[in-house]
Amino acid sequence: MKIFLVFLLCCGWVASGSELIKTSQPKKYENLSSQSQYIQDNNFGIVDVLSLPESAWTANNDDNLNLGYTSQSYWVKVNFVLPTSPHPYVLEIAYPVLDSLKLYLISADKVINYSKLGDKQTFSDRPIQHHNYLVPIESDVSGELELYIKVNSSSAIQLPVRLWSQQAFYESDQLNMLFLGIYFGLMSVMAVYNLLMYFSLKDKTQLYYVVYVSAIIAFYFSLSGLGFRYLWQNSLWWNDQSILFFLISAVLAGTLFIVRLLELKKHSRILYYGCIFIASVGVMLLFLSIFFSYGVMIRVIIAYASLACLWGVITRTVRLFEGSHFSTYYSLAWNAALCGGIILAANKFNFIPSNWFTEHALTIGTSIEVACLSFAMAERINSERKKRFIAQAKSMSEIRKANQLLEVEVESRTRELQDAYDKLKHTSRIDELTQVFNRRSLNEALNTECLRAKRFGHSISVLMVDIDHFKKVNDTYGHQCGDKCLAHVANLLKDACTRAGDTIARYGGEEFCILLPECNEHDALELGEIIRKRAQATAFRFENSTIKMTVSIGVTTAWGQSLEPHILIKQADMALYFAKQHGRNQVSLGSTLDT
Ligand code: GH3
Ligand code: MG
Ligand code: MG
Repeated sequence: MKIFLVFLLCCGWVASGSELIKTSQPKKYENLSSQSQYIQDNNFGIVDVLSLPESAWTANNDDNLNLGYTSQSYWVKVNFVLPTSPHPYVLEIAYPVLDSLKLYLISADKVINYSKLGDKQTFSDRPIQHHNYLVPIESDVSGELELYIKVNSSSAIQLPVRLWSQQAFYESDQLNMLFLGIYFGLMSVMAVYNLLMYFSLKDKTQLYYVVYVSAIIAFYFSLSGLGFRYLWQNSLWWNDQSILFFLISAVLAGTLFIVRLLELKKHSRILYYGCIFIASVGVMLLFLSIFFSYGVMIRVIIAYASLACLWGVITRTVRLFEGSHFSTYYSLAWNAALCGGIILAANKFNFIPSNWFTEHALTIGTSIEVACLSFAMAERINSERKKRFIAQAKSMSEIRKANQLLEVEVESRTRELQDAYDKLKHTSRIDELTQVFNRRSLNEALNTECLRAKRFGHSISVLMVDIDHFKKVNDTYGHQCGDKCLAHVANLLKDACTRAGDTIARYGGEEFCILLPECNEHDALELGEIIRKRAQATAFRFENSTIKMTVSIGVTTAWGQSLEPHILIKQADMALYFAKQHGRNQVSLGSTLDT
């Protein structure tokens, strides 16, 4: 709103400034519209119009002659005095979209110039090849003249009739063309720059913006008559339809652009679907604009564009209140274009005076708009980059944390696995009942120790210990008691074998085997005797019973190269058998092996 006021002030300032200029300097052109009269056409010919009484005509009291949208033809009359001049004059009708103009210049009841103009004539038919309608007046014509124009158009009928000296016209035209050149140049640079940005960033917002700016350029190019002048001189149909086509394209692309710029899909479903609806109608109208005439379509499209503008205002206001900072840029841009449009409309409807600024307000407005939007997009890229950077940093720190957690987890799992492995290894080597080594461990130890003994040339002793009459213990006290007795004897063996490197194992049933590396026969027999005595001396208590057990022990000692585990066991077993045979509760020595 503030911007709008600033614009209006600015407009008023320029307007008042230009009024001052008008009074202090000679006018560049004579505005003939302000002294024109008009009448609705009733199939009049020029002869009929000439004979009409003065009272039949309606005087136009405004600067501009504006007859609005009408299917009727009008006759417009201007009486003016042409000062004598050595230079020719030019009559300009500065509204290039009029369909048909028949222009009669009459001097002393004689038609001195007849021109047929309008965009329903091919461009090359124009007396002067210009995007506005120009009629030359030779330098020998002067004095009181009457100008009659029969006008008809499917667009709004406006008839800004200006009388120029030819020199002043071309001077002013050069400036105008320069201004338009700058305008189209600026807009094209914006479009091309953002198109290149789109190719590199692949952000659709940029693509919609490019289409939007291109459509505005094309629309203004058509509306100003430059398209007809430079691009489609012979295509009368397209000259009309192009205005519709590019206007709808601009609204359509502009709507899709704000959907993405203001992130409507994410933030507001209602605004989003409203825009999608407008865009869908736009696509439909785009097709219809090819098949239906300008006169039919223009009213529909103006209503459509107004609705889209209204929705645009609602959208940006809502998003502004929601705190979207892109909405600030967008509002700024939109206000600039809107002010331009309002000032131009106010000028056309004679609410504010016509001057260079008010005539070009829309062009200036759209230039500011496009620049602001381009800035908004640069901001958007910047903000996306920041967001990406933050997200990257966040994900990096999350990855780091996750790695640390993983390391801790892996460490703890490894420890657990190691523990489980150790436990399993222990379980696979130990006899569960007696907690001494099992047969498998004994075999491993026998193999290793035999190899060591061969290598270093020392002896190995083996004791085979068997509980005497153990079956009776089981039969008398039960197997549970028997189990406990087995554990008791195992403990007794462990206590007796105190040397490091000795292996005590349960050989099977109630038989134990003791492997004594680097132990001679004498020491082995001594140990056997200690065990036997302790077994006899130590009674085992189970519940209220005292159980006395004795053991028989077979001892063998071997050394040399032919030392083999199975022979050692066999010798010890034979010695044990011998002890059993000779009364039990004794230690006997098996035959000695030697090379
Ligand atoms: P000997 O003096 O001739 O060795 O007589 P013995 O009864 O001890 O020998 P025998 O081979 O006839 O019987 C061994 C008994 O040991 C038979 C079996 O019930 C018992 N036994 C073997 N293993 C276990 C065990 O794990 N627990 C229990 N409670 N008894 C067992
Ligand atoms: Mg036994
Ligand atoms: Mg036995």
